[in-house]
Amino acid sequence: MANTTVSLLRYCKTASGWRRMRVSTIRKGRGWNEEIKGSQSIIEKGEYQLRWFTGSKPKFKGVGDDLSAAVIARDHQASILELEKAAKAAGRSLVPDAGAKSQIALAKAKDEFIKRKETTVRRGGVPLCKKTIDAYEFIIGEFLMVTKRVYADQILDQDLLDYFTFLRERGLEERTVSNYYQSLSTFLRYCKVDSRAMLKKEDGSEDLRPDYDDPEPEPYTREEVEKFLAACDREQDYLFFSFLLNTGARELEATHCEFSDINWGAGYVHFKNKTITLSGGERIVFRTKTGKSRRVPVEPGFLEKLKAWHKKSAGRRFLFPQDNGADKPRTHYIDVCKRVARDAGLTCGTCITCLSKKRCERWFLHKWRATYATWSLQGGIDIKTVSKRLGHTKIEMTAKYLGEDRTEGALLKLSHVFGASGSTPLANGAGA
Ligand SMILES: [Zn+2]
Repeated sequence: MANTTVSLLRYCKTASGWRRMRVSTIRKGRGWNEEIKGSQSIIEKGEYQLRWFTGSKPKFKGVGDDLSAAVIARDHQASILELEKAAKAAGRSLVPDAGAKSQIALAKAKDEFIKRKETTVRRGGVPLCKKTIDAYEFIIGEFLMVTKRVYADQILDQDLLDYFTFLRERGLEERTVSNYYQSLSTFLRYCKVDSRAMLKKEDGSEDLRPDYDDPEPEPYTREEVEKFLAACDREQDYLFFSFLLNTGARELEATHCEFSDINWGAGYVHFKNKTITLSGGERIVFRTKTGKSRRVPVEPGFLEKLKAWHKKSAGRRFLFPQDNGADKPRTHYIDVCKRVARDAGLTCGTCITCLSKKRCERWFLHKWRATYATWSLQGGIDIKTVSKRLGHTKIEMTAKYLGEDRTEGALLKLSHVFGASGSTPLANGAGA
């Protein structure tokens, strides 16, 4: 009988060199504690590894230096071995027969899916970064651990709901639960599972997807924006976030923006599809999210700042190049956003990522776009114009930024509209 036991080991440095040592894990609150077995004292701790046996041959696999991720990887590997054993016992191979009722083995599909993501190139010619791929791996692994499903066709809506509950109980915000679900649904689609149909009734009477209608997108306040911009220690960072605020650009639209996309005379920036050939011959293909182009006017004061930046950037094409000086779109502005927010003392200090990683959930790039939308509408720009500037395909997408106006201005408007009639005595003298 095949042995399906998977042991968790840790590479540790001892007086006699690096050794693989057994680790036992103990649940502690939302995470894990470890106990490293062995009599030698440890000088330094290295990565975790998994070990299992094929016959009498041991197999090893490195799984990084995060204990929680290592535990998930161990359970995942054990489920693969269980699957292989079950398949063997049934006289089948793990790869589903094309002709027969094709059951998709989730653990195996996960590995294939991750492999495919590693070779994916996203809009703008940028490959997915390791962080994104790790996130996929973590999210799918956790889902499989929570649901304990082996085949894709066993997944029910209740499994998804259980998973959401699991995440919420861990203290994640609804928006994060929603983001996790987005990643998970991509994987499930790959496994031919339509999670959207499972969670949404045809007649629209019920939608159980997390945070689906995104009830009130929250903009940054003017005070937050001022503090944040003042805390940017690099001019390029200051200009990047000011650019998001002033144009409502999506992240990739901003990072792929070239000086030649700005019409200095007419004062607008042109977001459009383009193929950029770099001096080394490398090509970057950029496409806006909807594939449509749009012109967004730039406030004259900010346009002057961009002009000055253009002058300083002698000969460069991108507004926001890489830190090492390469004239290519800089990536990972999310890290800058989180860091500056922290430096400016603007983090909430209570969300789970604030506590664990000092990266506040309340600060993210898309919120700058939400701020542009909300401020534009509150400033009295008509919704159709704002919608066009944001590049929305439907006015409803813009309408969600209307929110409720609770400012003093709204009260003034109210007096303006109703004030006079309210103070006018009724004609027939009644109510006086
Ligand atoms: Zn926070």
